[in-house]
Formats: sequence, structure tokens, C-alpha cells
Amino acid sequence: MDTTNFAIASSAAAGLRLGSEGMRKNPTLVCTPLMAETVDKMVIDMSLAKASGADLVEIRLDSLKDFDPHDDLKTLIRGCPLPTLFTYRPTWEGGQYDGDENERLEALRFAMEFGADYIDVELQVAHEFFNTILGKKAEKCKVIVSSHNYQHTPSVEDLGNLVARIQATGADIVKIATTALNITDVARIFQITVHSQVPIIGLVMGERGLMSRILCAKFGGFLTFGTLDSRIVSAPGQPTIKDLLNLYNFRHIGPDTKVFGIIGKPVGHSKSPLLYNEVFKSVGFNGVYVHLLVDDIADFLQTYSSADFSGFSCTIPHKEAALKCCDEIDPVAKSIGAVNCIIRRPTDGKLCGYNTDYVGAITAIEDGLRGSHNSSSLTGSPLAGKLFIVIGAGGAGKALAYGAKEKGARVVIANRTYDRARELADTIGGDALSLADLDTFHPEDGMILANTTSIGMHPKIDETPISKHALKSYSLVFDAVYTPKITRLLREADESGAITVSGLEMFIGQAYEQFERFTGLPAPKEHFRKIMGDYS
Ligand code: NAP
Repeated sequence: MDTTNFAIASSAAAGLRLGSEGMRKNPTLVCTPLMAETVDKMVIDMSLAKASGADLVEIRLDSLKDFDPHDDLKTLIRGCPLPTLFTYRPTWEGGQYDGDENERLEALRFAMEFGADYIDVELQVAHEFFNTILGKKAEKCKVIVSSHNYQHTPSVEDLGNLVARIQATGADIVKIATTALNITDVARIFQITVHSQVPIIGLVMGERGLMSRILCAKFGGFLTFGTLDSRIVSAPGQPTIKDLLNLYNFRHIGPDTKVFGIIGKPVGHSKSPLLYNEVFKSVGFNGVYVHLLVDDIADFLQTYSSADFSGFSCTIPHKEAALKCCDEIDPVAKSIGAVNCIIRRPTDGKLCGYNTDYVGAITAIEDGLRGSHNSSSLTGSPLAGKLFIVIGAGGAGKALAYGAKEKGARVVIANRTYDRARELADTIGGDALSLADLDTFHPEDGMILANTTSIGMHPKIDETPISKHALKSYSLVFDAVYTPKITRLLREADESGAITVSGLEMFIGQAYEQFERFTGLPAPKEHFRKIMGDYS
């Protein structure tokens, strides 16, 4: 595997022309692939694509059930309110067309003659295609020569050779789509994109390749795809056009945009991109925040080592491994033994690790207790002296256990793996319990329960870490899970008469602090709450 360290200087991409629209910080086109089965539906979808903000549409002729090139191409071109790209993908390149090759290429020639703005021709047949149009190429039409690799992403050297082969066919635009087996594969496509002398579409398929579809705007890609419907994609991993434009603020990404993201596995459920991108936009901060599906955090941080990648949030299951990857660690994060926020220090590029979970969760629980007892005027923490049960001994569990202990609570850790509960209990000075014994553990009333495992998280929303009858001994129940906002645990705790505190409160609390570390700006707290309230 290629292990090239990805260290693109922003200046390498800085030669990009700015788009003509005022707000647009990159010239990368947003193309909506249309996969309708009828010409009429294609025409309807073209208007939807325009209304959604697409720059052009890709008309996938191979998805049409009934297709008469002569008539249908004219109808499609005349009926399209946007520039058109015609693709007639054969089965041997991942498409649906399995008919005669000559007829397929002839349809693309017709499309060119009838006024298509772009046509896509596969590398394997590009020479043949160009030979048949010698001297007859429509001036207006640009030919994209494409290569798709559904297995993996080749080395930088092999990708470079592939670009050269595509260029040699006479392509106006090079398109390379590969498959991400690891998120680090995307770095090689960025490297090829940023150094390309010709317009290039470089995309990496699959969830691990998502970043390629967003950050191509930063690194000078010619085009990216955004679908109308998340269920109808022309290649694995395509985001919707709505997410590209509204969630990731695609038009605002430029060569000097700082990249942030949430490192996790799984990570697709995370609402962090929604929150940070919205707030970045509202305060005018030049940053983009993306989902990063990471298998090995050390490998990831080593690969994306340039100043472009400015900061990261860490979630399940990387918070403890993150500790070992940082050059410097904040003392609280060190005591907790978990890092959920990594900043690349601008002055020397060193990675600094912090833990913001602790403040977010404990403050939310204290607020819950104070609210219920109307005791905000009392000095000291309402947690002092309470028996505080933490379910889980991972990153969030450590933060909660450390925080509760700091506030004077008596802490008990219950975990699936008892040894980990024991280890954490010994570290902070508490007791340990096996998760199986939790239902029968009720030494006193008025205890506090904090679930820090992923039990009950979407999609397994019917699961809960403790039986309902055992909840009677608790005065407050907190759940770190925030998708859904009201988990089964919180619903049953509420029915049992306990105060409930949602993971959303912790999420907002820890995010304030991360935002300030990412941007150096004070967090617009009310805005955070409003955004999360609107989407929960
Ligand atoms: P982590 O470091 O991987 O720890 C996971 C913990 O959950 C471990 O103690 C593990 O037990 C336990 N666990 C996992 N699956 C389990 C199952 N099926 N049955 C019993 N125990 C199970 O993860 P983390 O970063 O602490 O995150 C944990 C949860 O908290 C996630 O749902 C995350 O989304 C949420 N969280 C929320 C916020 C927020 O702001 N609201 C912040 C941080 C985390 P073993 O030791 O036995 O493996």
C-alpha cells in the first residue's frame, strides 16, 4: 500500500479561479446524477436539480428502460434547464447497459451533435471513440474520459500513470473514481487532483471516501456529484446535493479553508458536522467540518499531517487511542485517559489533545439537579456526597467518572467487561460492578445513573442498559446517547419519576469548548442550542 505522507501546502491549490457568483469560493461544479427510468421523469428531475442548486445534470442513459437515441436525446437536451452531461455506462464499467457497443457509442456521438455540454466516455473505449469523431467533434462539447476502480485506490504512481493515459486519449477532462478501503486512500486522490495540469474529477467511492466528494472544492476538482435522493445514487458514497450545499456549505470551501472533522467508527450518525458548519457560517469562520470514518486513528493523523487539517473531534472507539497520538496532552485529558478534541497548533504543527466531554456532561447533570431542587443559590456542587453510577468504562465513561469524583460524588463503575470497570474504579478511587449485577444494585435511594455506552443508540433504539424496575432507586438518569434524543432509558426513567438529562445537553456543552479551541472565537452559545433544538 502506498504510504505517501499527505502534506499538500494550501498554496498548491491557491491558483484556483474564483467563481463568478459573489459567495462562491470555488469553481468546482456540482452535478446531479439522474437515474430515472423514463425520459419524462428525467425531465422532471432536471428541474428539481436546478431548484436544488445544481450546476449541471448527468443524464444516465443506461437507467432508461426504453431509449430511442434520435428522439429522446433531443427531448432531453431541449427540456434541460441546466448544462447536460451524458453518460451511457456499460455493465463492464459498473453501469446498466449490456447491449451493442457500437450503438452505445453512437448514442454518445448523437448527444454531442445535438448539443450536449459534456459526454462521458470510458478509458477502455476512448481511443476508438475519438477515432470515429476525427474532425467532427462538436466545438461546445467537452469529452470526459473516465476510469472506475471498484476494488481499491491504486498508489500515487499508478494513479499518475492513469491520468497520463487518460490525457493521451485527447480527453478534455480526466475522471478517476476509485474505492476507499481506508480513509487514507483519499489522500492519494487529493494529491493527484492538486497537481493535475488538466481539469480533473477525482472521487473516492464508499463511506470512507466521502471527504473526497466535499474537499475536491478545496483541492481544485472539476466536479462533484450530489444526488436528489439519498436512496438513489449512481455510485456508492454520493452525498445528497442538499447535504453538499447546506450541511457542508460546499460553495464556501476555498483553497485556504481549514478542515475539521469528527473521527469515529461508526460516524455517519454524528450531528457534529451540522452544528459546526452552521456555526462556522454564522460567525464567518473559513472552515469546513466533515464526517471521517476512521479505522486507525494513528494512521489517519500521520497521513493527513498538513496544516490544512486543523482540528478533530474524536468519538467511539478512538478516544483512548487518540491520547497516544498527540504530541501534548492537557492535564485533565491525561487524568481521564481519553481525548475527544485534537488541535493542530498553528505555530509548530504539533497535535494537542483535550477532553471537553467532562465539562459538558457534569455541567448538564448539575444543572438537572439544581433545576429540580431549586438550589442554584447553594454553594458547591449538588453532586457532592451522591452515589453516582457510571455505566461504561470507555472514553465517555472515564470523563463522567473523573468529573463526578472531582465534584465529590462516590463513584461506582458498571461495565460489560468487568476488568475495565475495576481498572477505572481503581484509577479514580471508586468501586466496580459487573453490568450483569446492575439491576439488583440498590444500596440507597436517590442515586444518579449515567449511561456512557452506546446501548440504545440509533438504530438499536429498543435496547437499554438497565431494567425499568431498577430505575426506582435513581433520582436522576443521564444518557450520553443523543440519537435519539429521548432514549428508551430516559423514557423509562421519566416514567419511574427520575429527573432525566439528555445526551444532547452534554453534546452542546462539550461542543462550546471545542468550537473555541477550533476557531479561537467565543462560542455563540444560544446559537448552538437553537441549532441542536431545531434538529433534535
Ligand atoms: P468507547 O470508548 O468505545 O466505550 C464504549 C463503552 O461502551 C465501553 O465501556 C463498552 O464496554 C461499552 N459497550 C459498548 N457496546 C456495549 C454493549 N453492546 N453492551 C454493553 N456495553 C457496551 O465509546 P465512547 O466514546 O465512550 O462513547 C460511548 C457512547 O457515548 C456513544 O454512544 C457516544 O455516541 C456517546 N457519547 C456522547 C457524547 C455526547 O456529547 N452526548 C459524548 C461522547 C460520547 P466494554 O468495555 O465491555 O467494551
